[in-house]
Amino acid sequence: MIYCCKEHVDLALRSGGERQGSAPFLKEISTEEILSTTCEYCQNPAVYIVAN
Ligand SMILES: [Zn+2]
Repeated sequence: MIYCCKEHVDLALRSGGERQGSAPFLKEISTEEILSTTCEYCQNPAVYIVAN
């Protein structure tokens, strides 16, 4: 799974698709998770999870 902020959703989707070889699944994370999770590509709080 890749945690990402709004700015890096596209990047995470592309990277997730390459890793898994199938269409990645995008979901919004809950408020509690946002507080403790940072984007994989920058220091912003993560807003989405990309998974398969
Ligand atoms: Zn980011």
